[in-house]
Formats: sequence, C-alpha cells, structure tokens
Amino acid sequence: MPDTDTRILAEVAARRDELVALTQGLVRIPTLNPPGNEYRTLVDWLGAWLEARGWTVELIRAHGAIGDSDAHPRWNLIARREGPRPGDCVHFNGHHDVVEVGEGWTHDPFAAEIDAGRIYGRGTCDMKGGLASAIIAAEAFIAACPDFAGSIEVSATADEESGGYGGVAYLAEKGYFDPARVQHVIIPEPLNKDRICLGHRGVWWAEIETHGRIAHGAMPFLGDSAIRHMGAVLEEMEATLFPLLAQKRTDMPVVPEGAKQSTLNINSIHGGEPDPAPGFTGFPAPCVADRCRIVIDRRFLIEEDIADVKDEVRALMERVKAGRPGFTYEIRDMHEVIPTMTDREAPVVTTTAAAIEKVLGARPDYVVSPGTYDQKHIDRIGRLHNCIAYGPGVLDLAHQPDEWIDIQDMVDSARVMALVLAQLL
Ligand SMILES: [Zn+2]
Repeated sequence: MPDTDTRILAEVAARRDELVALTQGLVRIPTLNPPGNEYRTLVDWLGAWLEARGWTVELIRAHGAIGDSDAHPRWNLIARREGPRPGDCVHFNGHHDVVEVGEGWTHDPFAAEIDAGRIYGRGTCDMKGGLASAIIAAEAFIAACPDFAGSIEVSATADEESGGYGGVAYLAEKGYFDPARVQHVIIPEPLNKDRICLGHRGVWWAEIETHGRIAHGAMPFLGDSAIRHMGAVLEEMEATLFPLLAQKRTDMPVVPEGAKQSTLNINSIHGGEPDPAPGFTGFPAPCVADRCRIVIDRRFLIEEDIADVKDEVRALMERVKAGRPGFTYEIRDMHEVIPTMTDREAPVVTTTAAAIEKVLGARPDYVVSPGTYDQKHIDRIGRLHNCIAYGPGVLDLAHQPDEWIDIQDMVDSARVMALVLAQLL
C-alpha cells in the first residue's frame, strides 16, 4: 500500500472516537419527518461543528418547496473545503431527516446509546451514521493530504424520506448539482460497506377512481355500485396484470431478488361512506357506493418505458369497461420517477470499487435499490450521472425498531471514502 494511503488510513483510525461522537450528536437531534422537526437545530449544530474545523458552511432554506412552511421550515446545509490546487469537486450527500419511531424499542431512540460496538437510535443506520462517516473520511483525507487538488463538499439535506423536494431536489434546481460545479457524488445511504449501489427502479403512483350512482341499499338495482366495479378491476389485475409483471425481469442488479421483476402494490382502497367519527355509536346508512378509489404504487424496470407502464393500466381499465355497461373511471397521476443506473465504468464507481478492495480485501457487489432515494434528483434535475450510494449500515434495519449501526462498519466505510478522495483529488 502506498505511503499516502497508509497515512490516510491512520488519520481515519485516529478519529474513531470523533466519528462516534459526531454520530451521537446528530442522532440526539430528533429530526422526525413528518412533520420535519428540528431541522434548523441540526444544521446549526452540524454547521458549527464543521466551521470549527475550517469548512465554509452555507445554510439554505427550501423556500416554497413542497413541505416547507414557517412552522416547519426545510433547512439544508452545504459545507465546502477548497484544496490549494484546481481539480474536481467530490460531494457527499446525506439526508438528515428520520422516520417516525414506532413501537417495539428496547433502547431510547434518541439517546444514541452504545452497546456491544453498536450505536442505537432512530437514524443511526438511515443515515446519520453514514453522513458522519463521510465527514470523518473528508477530515482524515485533508489532514493527510492538505495540498489536494479540487474541493470537497458535504451536504446534509431535508425530506429524503418524503421525496426530497425540500432537500436535494431544491438544491439541484438551484444549480448546486450542476456538473460544471460538482463532478462526483457519493450518497452514504446504508447499503452495506462492501456494496456499491448504482441506482434504482422507477416509480409510478396513480389514483384510480371508479364511478357509480348512489341509491338506497335496499334497492341496489336502482343505483350502480362503484365498489363492485372496483372489485372487477382488482379481479382483472389478479387475472392478467400481476402475472404479466411477474414475467418482466431486469438485467439491473436489483436487491432483494424479488425486486428484480416489475411490481405493483395497492397502497389503499376507499369506497362508499367514510369511516364513522371516533365515538359515534350508530349504524351506517344503507347506500350504494358512488365512488371507490385505490392508490397504486407501480415499480418499473430500466427496460420498461413509463408510457407503456401507464398504457398497461389504461388497457386493463378498458377491458373491464368493455364488460360492464355504463361503467366510467378516472386515472390520476400522482408521482413518477424514471429509473436510473450509473455506468460501472464511471469514475466514482471504479475508484470506490478499488478502495473497497484495498480496505476490505474483496471485490464489491454492485446493486440497484428497489426503491428510490435522492439520486433521482441529482440525475434528473442536476443532470449529473456520476453518482452512487455507498455507505455503512444494514439496509434492512432502516425504519425498524432498535435501529443500530456498527461502529467498525462506519470506520471501514470512512476508510473507503477517504481513499476514494485520494484517487479523485
Ligand atoms: Zn435514507
């Protein structure tokens, strides 16, 4: 191993306690989303930590973005270090929001307790531990190689868990991920320290509404039941759509195995009278349902076109309609994300692969995420394609009770990220 690498790895090792303390500090600020609590507290705290170590810090509120309000402002942080010589910019992006706590914890979710080499708490794994590892990697690299070329940026961004519109999407729209400004992006999401995540599948969310006509429940033949129409839609999905989706297989290395095919989830179904208000003890009224709605979550493959994905559902609705006189429906688009996959020969991929091999002594696995994350905005709005997710933590623990991160995994991934900096800068 060259001298520089040895020096860099020693600097990472010397910062083990600092890495733990930084992670604990971030976890102890409960940035729950929704609604978006304590975002300003977190960026102030982290901004002070970084400024004290020589970083230039900018705090940016996503004014007017989805989710931003005076009660819950969407605050983001971007910190930068310039090297003495010109060169590329490597950007580490971590979201600072965490999901709700939920039931079943045996550790305090915001105490960041250490137990048997792990830190416990909401957001340890997804992804404050990864964010802290990237920062420590940058600190160690700068200490070992102060005359580096180019620049390093770290961002801590809002709202990834709710789509990223008040976070990375906003910053991308403002030009922060312009390829003229930033050349390499690593998102330290918890994908395991020996895996490189190249991208994600696509998403189409839509609401389907079937129409009927209200009538007395004792004379349903005088009305037209929207729920029965929806039943026919669901039956047609079982008979034709789900089998079709199961046959569509991708060459993308999606994990887990079940997500290598197209999938569809029905998020919700609502029809007829609304649920009674809490405390209401009466019976519902006898009525034929005039409206029924489902929300579908269709995840599609890079080999599929989103127009075809939508046409499939439209064709299915038309088949149902053909067999049911007078039946009408609406399909409303809610949200869509195009699949993305970074080239394996992209510089951020090849340098991370080489660094993983040096640090862990094994070749990395290349994976694609079943769901999306902030890479979608960097790719689509920022038009920056040299981007991966790489970071410590076990993906399955994200959003679970007793979420934890292994301290050694954080140190190892910080070693990898520091060596990537040495290669790129
Ligand atoms: Zn995450």
